[in-house]
Amino acid sequence: MSVGTLAGKVAIVTASTEGIGLAIAKRLGKDGAKVVISSRKRSNVDKAVEELKRLGVTALGCRCHVGHDEQRRNMVQAAVDQFGGIDILVSNAAVNPFFGNMMDCPEDSWNKIFDVNVKASWLLTREVVPHMIKRGSGAIVFVTSIAGYTPMPMLGPYSVSKTALLGLVKAFAHELANDNIRVNAVAPGVVRTKFSSALTDTEGLSDALLTTVPMRRFGETDEIAGTVSFLCSKDASYVTGETMVVAGGMNSKL
Ligand code: NAP
Repeated sequence: MSVGTLAGKVAIVTASTEGIGLAIAKRLGKDGAKVVISSRKRSNVDKAVEELKRLGVTALGCRCHVGHDEQRRNMVQAAVDQFGGIDILVSNAAVNPFFGNMMDCPEDSWNKIFDVNVKASWLLTREVVPHMIKRGSGAIVFVTSIAGYTPMPMLGPYSVSKTALLGLVKAFAHELANDNIRVNAVAPGVVRTKFSSALTDTEGLSDALLTTVPMRRFGETDEIAGTVSFLCSKDASYVTGETMVVAGGMNSKL
C-alpha cells in the first residue's frame, strides 16, 4: 500500500469506525496513507482496524471522543509516536442530540452540538498544525453538510453548527496558507449511514427528501471519500479555503 497519490503521508480521521469516516479512512489508506482511525468505543475501533488491515491498509486505532481534551491529545501523540508525524487531518465527527424547533432546543444540547461539531475541529487543528509545520506542509478537511447551506427542518442547531464550519475553513485557510497548510471542507448531501437513517429509511420522508435531490438518489459513503482524498492530494495543491459540495445537485447557496 505504498504506491498512490498519498504515499508516505500520515492521516488522522476522526469518527472513523463506520459510515463516512470509515469510508474516508479506507480510501486514504488505499491511496497510500498510513491512517489513524478513532471513535468513542474501543470495540468499534478494534473492529475497524481489523477491517482496514484486511484491506492491506497500515492503520492504528485510538479511542477518541473528540470533545475530550486528553483523548484528542493522546490520539495526536500516538500518530506522531507510531507513524513519525502528521500530514493530513480529516475532522469528521458530529452529533445531533436534538430534533425540533430552534426555539425549543435546550442549552445543553446546543452546547454539545457546538462542542463536538465545531469547537473540536478548531482544537484538533491547533493540535496538529505544529506537527504539519515540522513536515513542511499539511492538508486539513472538515466534514460539514449540505444542511450548512440550507438548514434542514427540525435540525436547526445541527445545521447552524455546519454553517459555522464553512467559516472555520475560510478563517484557518487564510491563517495557515503561509505554513503551506491547506484547509478545505466537504459538504455531503444525504448519504446512507446510521446517522441519516431516520431521514433515508422513513417511508414518505425519504421520498419527499429525494424530490430535493436533482440526481434522485442518496449518496454513497465512497463518493464522499473520493472527494476528501482529492482535497488531501497534490492534485488539489492550489485549493484552499473551499468547501466541495457532494450532494447530487442539492441547493447549496448560503
Ligand atoms: P455514522 O455513520 O453514524 O458514524 C458515526 C461515527 O462517528 C462512528 O464511527 C461513531 O463511533 C463516531 N462518533 C460519534 N460521536 C463521536 C464523537 N463525539 N467523537 C468521536 N467519534 C464519534 O455518521 P456519518 O453519517 O458517517 O456522519 C459522519 C459525518 O458526516 C458527520 O460530520 C455528519 O454530520 C456528516 N454528514 C453526514 C451526512 C449523512 O447523510 N450521513 C450528511 C451530511 C453530513 P462511536 O459510536 O464508536 O463513537
